[in-house]
Formats: sequence, structure tokens, C-alpha cells
Amino acid sequence: MVRRLRRGDTLVVASHNSGKVRELQQLIRPFGVDVVAAGALGLVEPEETGVTFEENAIIKAMAAALASGLPALADDSGMTVDALNGDPGIHSARWAGPSKDFDAAMREVERRLEAAGATTPATRRGTFVAVLALAAPDGAVDTWRGEIGGTIVWPPRGTQGFGYDPMFLPDGHARTFGEMSAEEKHGWNPPLTPLSHRARAFAAFAADAMVG
Ligand code: IMP
Repeated sequence: MVRRLRRGDTLVVASHNSGKVRELQQLIRPFGVDVVAAGALGLVEPEETGVTFEENAIIKAMAAALASGLPALADDSGMTVDALNGDPGIHSARWAGPSKDFDAAMREVERRLEAAGATTPATRRGTFVAVLALAAPDGAVDTWRGEIGGTIVWPPRGTQGFGYDPMFLPDGHARTFGEMSAEEKHGWNPPLTPLSHRARAFAAFAADAMVG
């Protein structure tokens, strides 16, 4: 049974990434649930020792819920590339190194694709994945996964978004995520059809866990 959140409840967003916290706050606010960031409560970031998006999202949500005594929501996400056996996948953030250099991370994806002989769109398939985990202080936990398929393009296009957005062309679209506004990338424009992996995971989470 999924634990449900009600108007007036407080939810910890178990992330120290200000972009993710902002994005989740924007999504959660319409449900009347108060959001507090893990960093604002002085919670430490646990090590992500899992081997799947689900395991890492659970590690982060559970650590925050146990430390705060409040329900906690965590997101673990990344880009998987078929021709690279799923890399960078759960290591998407790590490929950018401590300086978070995503230009270098995108060059590394391209270098490996070329080394693998993946030069045609059909051989350059990728998927953005986002998993949300909701943990309760008593140890109950649920996860929701959102995915979007696309093509890895080179050179990167667009200066909006973050991470690998400029090299990801979502299926059915002529512009990369890097060329889209946040509203367009997530599908927040009417008719409000979730597009991005994170928006899709959130829509599934909200349908199950939010009393709105
Ligand atoms: P996490 O904080 O361990 O979940 O790392 C997620 C990483 O995946 C980010 O640092 C980005 O590199 C990548 N990523 C996840 N979602 C997106 C997205 O929407 N656009 C671009 N890159 C993303």
C-alpha cells in the first residue's frame, strides 16, 4: 500500500542538487504539500552504493526519512546509451567529474560512440531514466520510474537545461532537450502531457501518492 501525502503534510526532498529541488518543489506545490530540502535540515548525503536507479533513489529517500522523521522523496536519474551497454546510466553525474563538466562528459559519450562505430541515428539510441522513491520514517518505501527514448546527436545543440540535454533528441521532436524551455521539456505546456523522464515519473508518483 502506497503511503499517501495530504495537503499540509511536510515532505523532505532528499537532494542536495538545487536544480532538482527547485524542479520538484514546482511540481509538488500545487498539491498543497510543504517541501523542505534535505540541505536546509542539515542532513548529510548518503553514498550512492546501489547498482540500479531504484536502489540509489531508495538509499537517498530512506536516509533522509530516517534522519528527519518525515516522509522523504528522492530522485535518481541518468542517461543510458544502448551502444554503450547502458553507460553512463547510474554513473551519469560521475562522468562529469568533481567539477561537473558536462561538456567533457558529452564528449566522452561521443568518443565512445564513434569508437563503437555508432554513426547512424539507428545505432545511437538512448534513454533518459528517472526514478522517484518515497520513504516513510517507519521504513515503508515505494518507487516510480519514468523514461523517454531518443537519439544521441553530435554536436550538442542548445544552451537550456543541464547535464546531457544538448545531445538528446527526444523521439517525435525536432529539437534537443537543450533547445527546449523547461515547460516544453517537461510537457508542462497545455495539454500538459508529461514528456521528460522526470515529469513522467512524477505523474505516476502523484497519481498514486498525492491526495490533491
Ligand atoms: P543523480 O543526481 O545521481 O541522479 O545524477 C543524475 C545525472 O544524470 C545528472 O547529473 C545528469 O548528468 C543526468 N541527468 C538526469 N536527468 C537529466 C536531464 O533531465 N537532463 C540532462 N541530464 C540529466
